Amino acid sequence: MAEILTEGFELVGVTPAVSSAGFPKLVQWIDLGYAAQMEYFANRLDAYQNPSGIMPGTRSIIALAYPYAASADHSVATGNGRVARYAWSGIDYHDVIHSKLKKIIKAFLEFDASVKVRGIVDTAPLMEREVAAASGIGWRGKNTLLLNRGWGSYFFLTCILIDRDFIPTSPSPASGHCGTCTACLDACPTDAFIGPGILDARRCISYLTIEHEGSIEAHLRPGIGDWVFGCDICQEVCPWNRKRSRTEPRSPSSLHQIDLHELFSIDDAAFRERYRQTPMWRTRRRGLLRNAAIVLGNQAHAQSFQPLRTGLQDTDPIIRGASAWALSRIPHMDVAETLKLALLTEHDDSVRDEINASLCFLAESD
Ligand code: SF4
Ligand code: SF4
Repeated sequence: MAEILTEGFELVGVTPAVSSAGFPKLVQWIDLGYAAQMEYFANRLDAYQNPSGIMPGTRSIIALAYPYAASADHSVATGNGRVARYAWSGIDYHDVIHSKLKKIIKAFLEFDASVKVRGIVDTAPLMEREVAAASGIGWRGKNTLLLNRGWGSYFFLTCILIDRDFIPTSPSPASGHCGTCTACLDACPTDAFIGPGILDARRCISYLTIEHEGSIEAHLRPGIGDWVFGCDICQEVCPWNRKRSRTEPRSPSSLHQIDLHELFSIDDAAFRERYRQTPMWRTRRRGLLRNAAIVLGNQAHAQSFQPLRTGLQDTDPIIRGASAWALSRIPHMDVAETLKLALLTEHDDSVRDEINASLCFLAESD
C-alpha cells in the first residue's frame, strides 16, 4: 500500500496471525521475575498468546518499522542528563504513529468497508518483536531488540491487525545475524543480560529510569551513569547501528539532553508545562527528578550541591532519598552538615535510611 511508504514507514512485513513461537519464553521470563513491576505482562498473558485475544477474527498482521534518530552524537554537558534516542524528538511517539496508522486504516476501509482492522502501538498485549521477526523485517538480536541489516534497531515497531488472509513475507532466519558478536552483552553497565536475548528488566537502566516506580536500589545507581531517561548503550555498540549512524538536524523541541540543575528549580506547574507533551511525562516529576539526582551523584561535580540540597527539601520522599544519596557523592564541604540538618526534621523512614547510609558512606570515605 502506497500509504505505508508515504507515512514514512521504512520496513513492512506480513505474517499470519498465529500463536507466537516466543510465547513459552515470555511465560518463563515472567515466572523468573524478569518483568519487574511490569505486571501487565502477567495480567494479560492469555491475550499475548494469540492475536485474536486483541481483535477476534484476526487473520494477518502487518508489521511496520518507523525510524527515529540514529545520530552518533551522545556527548553530555556537565549537569545534564542523557536521553535515549527514541525520545529525542520531544514528542510522544504513540501520538505520531497513531495518526499515521489512522490514515493507513482509513485507506483500507475505503478499499473495503467490511474489513476489520486495528492498529497497535505498544498499547495492546501483542508480542511485536516476535511478530516483526516472523514477518521478516528483522531478527531478535542478543540485546532482545529487533534488528534489520539495513536499518539497525533505531526504529519504532507497530502492527496492524486485519481479518483477511494475505500472502506472508518470508520470516527471518531463527539464528539471526548476530553471529559470534557479544558487544551488547559485554557493554551493559548494569549486567542486565542473563544471557543472549534474555533481559532482567530489574537491572536495566531503560526500565529503571522510565518504568520503575519508587526508589532505585542503591547498588544499581552508579551503573546509571549519565542516563536520566532510558539507555541506548546496547544499541550504540551494535555493529548494525554503527553502520547507520548519521547526524540529523535538531528541531527546536529536541531533547537530546536535559539540564538537571534547572529541573530542581522548577515547580510542579512549570514541570507539567514543560514535559506534559513529551515522552518524559511517563515518569512524572517524581521519576525524572529521582533519575536526575542519581545522574548528578554519578557526575560528582561541586556545582550540583545546591540543586541537590533543593532536592533534599522536596515534598516527595523518593526525590529526597535520591538527593541524599547523590549529595554524599558531591565534593563540597557542606555536604555532611546539610545531611545532618535534614535528619533532624525528616520523618519519612525510607529517607532517614538514605540519609544515614549517606552519612556512613561519607565517614567511610574520609
Ligand atoms: Fe543494559 Fe542499557 Fe541495554 Fe538496559 S538498555 S540492557 S541497561 S545496555
Ligand atoms: Fe547482536 Fe552484536 Fe548487535 Fe548484540 S551487539 S544485537 S550480539 S550484533
